[in-house]
Amino acid sequence: MVIDLDRCTGCGACMVACAVENNLPTPPVEAQDNRGLTWLRVYQCGNGRTFPDFKTVFIPVPCMQCDHAPCIHVCPVTAVDYDTETGIVGQIPERCMGCRYCMAACPYHARTFNWWDPVWPKGMEKSLNPDVSPRMRGTAEKCNFCHGRLHRAREKAASEGRRDLNPGEYIPACVEACPTRAIHFGDLQDSEDPVAKLSKSPHAFRLLESLRTFPKVFYLSRQDWVKDVGKSRLEMLRKDIYRDSESESNG
Ligand code: SF4
Repeated sequence: MVIDLDRCTGCGACMVACAVENNLPTPPVEAQDNRGLTWLRVYQCGNGRTFPDFKTVFIPVPCMQCDHAPCIHVCPVTAVDYDTETGIVGQIPERCMGCRYCMAACPYHARTFNWWDPVWPKGMEKSLNPDVSPRMRGTAEKCNFCHGRLHRAREKAASEGRRDLNPGEYIPACVEACPTRAIHFGDLQDSEDPVAKLSKSPHAFRLLESLRTFPKVFYLSRQDWVKDVGKSRLEMLRKDIYRDSESESNG
């Protein structure tokens, strides 16, 4: 996946499409701000200057599908797995025991926790996606590049006697929904794929590259300050999360 930050307007259509596609329930009214479920966050960051030099950027952050994924190594019950064919890091909710080690290990804050049983406003349960099972309370979850869509595309290809998918036959919901076409999706292993070419652009970068997690989500920007801001915003969030969990454990 390659996300062009110079095209993203921060509209949030990708977040909405993700929630609808993956049956993310709405949080109960008593939920605190940071306790709702989301598989994709869009952060707004500024360049730290004042008018007229102020600039802002929106950074959509799904799970990075890291090649060296810290969440896989810390999970004590093997509820996180790595698909060697697609490179997708999958979550197996039936195995998850809710320890949340994966959430602490993920440097991108890409995981959220099911604090409540999934409930939808009356009538909305009729529009749930039948290809994606709702997850139960007490489990961690995250983006899986709309794995349900991959299964559906493979089934269609098999029914037509094909082993391989046609280009564009499988794309995640966020890619489809983005009105500015800021999110590109393809095969990073195929050097001829337009997305693989974009990832090699001199303007491409990944978040927190120094951690050597080797994310499969790349970002594009022609503005140098944008690269630094993505990193510092993630580190700031980490400090906030630690502060919140410390105050919770201190009662
Ligand atoms: S849908 Fe596209 S433009 Fe809107 S926030 Fe997501 S990436 Fe940005």
